[in-house]
Amino acid sequence: MYLVFDIGGTTVRAALYDPDRGQLMHTHRSATPSTWSERTATAADLHDQLVRRIGEASNALLGAQRPKAVCLAFPGPVDATGRVLVAPTVWGRARSKPVAPAVELAHLWPSSHIYVINDVTAAGYRYVATGLADFCILTVSSGVGHKVFVGGREIVGPGGRGGEIGHWVVDPSPHAPPCDCGGRGHVGAVTSGRGALLLARRRAYAQPRLFGESALCRYRASDPEQLRTEDLVASFADEDAWTVRLIGDVARPLGRALGAIHLTVGVERFVIVGGFALALGERYRALLVSAARESCLDLGQDWDSMIQLGYHDDDSGLIGAGVYLQRQFGDRSSVPCMPAGALQ
Ligand SMILES: [Zn+2]
Repeated sequence: MYLVFDIGGTTVRAALYDPDRGQLMHTHRSATPSTWSERTATAADLHDQLVRRIGEASNALLGAQRPKAVCLAFPGPVDATGRVLVAPTVWGRARSKPVAPAVELAHLWPSSHIYVINDVTAAGYRYVATGLADFCILTVSSGVGHKVFVGGREIVGPGGRGGEIGHWVVDPSPHAPPCDCGGRGHVGAVTSGRGALLLARRRAYAQPRLFGESALCRYRASDPEQLRTEDLVASFADEDAWTVRLIGDVARPLGRALGAIHLTVGVERFVIVGGFALALGERYRALLVSAARESCLDLGQDWDSMIQLGYHDDDSGLIGAGVYLQRQFGDRSSVPCMPAGALQ
């Protein structure tokens, strides 16, 4: 049995993964101790709390059993030696030095192989298991990340710095939205769920009459400070014009970024995952398609078929971490098949 973790900015997901069946058996979720949830905690406190949280999840799932292998998916770039270079959604700028989770957590599983990979890389392996080999996976939730896969392997460069489109500057203005990493105007700051919420509030204050006339204001939240991303999602589904314009403006830079990735490496398949994107759904995908198409040299690409939505659940990182371990141990015979109708 494998033990897999997908550590997000808000949730530590853990599960047992059965390599024979190619599926998750039991899952466990707990809140991530982060710079954003515990604002007075020191970097050392947050680190210790995370180690404790991981240990508790392991105990809850395994008891006294020993896993054959452990895979930890972290939300940050990971180098070839398994060091997490930064993890802005967990630690903000509090930890500027790389950390080596496999070393720091070795006492939890002293007789097990421990692997550390990026969380978007892990999600990508779920799709590798369905037969995709050359594709780009893009996650849009509280942040934005991507990884390009070629031949069924992620391409991140010798230093592990690739696949971080979320930290590319698309708004160089001094008042551009702040990014978790400490920069400003990055793709992740502008086009994520968090970025959409910030833009909604800024516009609500700047255009009070237009906001007041919107269905978002009338039926969801009249106080901009009370707005939540769920309100934006619901108003977008209701086709509220103010919200549709807002999401269009948020999606456009991300669609252009997909165009840049396509022109850079030629990848022709984009799988969109992440809570914010999947909640917005098909019409959001269509906005990305339009923006990507308009940003690129037209060589006859069919952007509508190139960009697709992924599985609408919260398990991609966990399943992908299990698939990654299967591949490490050379057991590909039980790789799960693509469930019918799962990919949209
Ligand atoms: Zn950034």
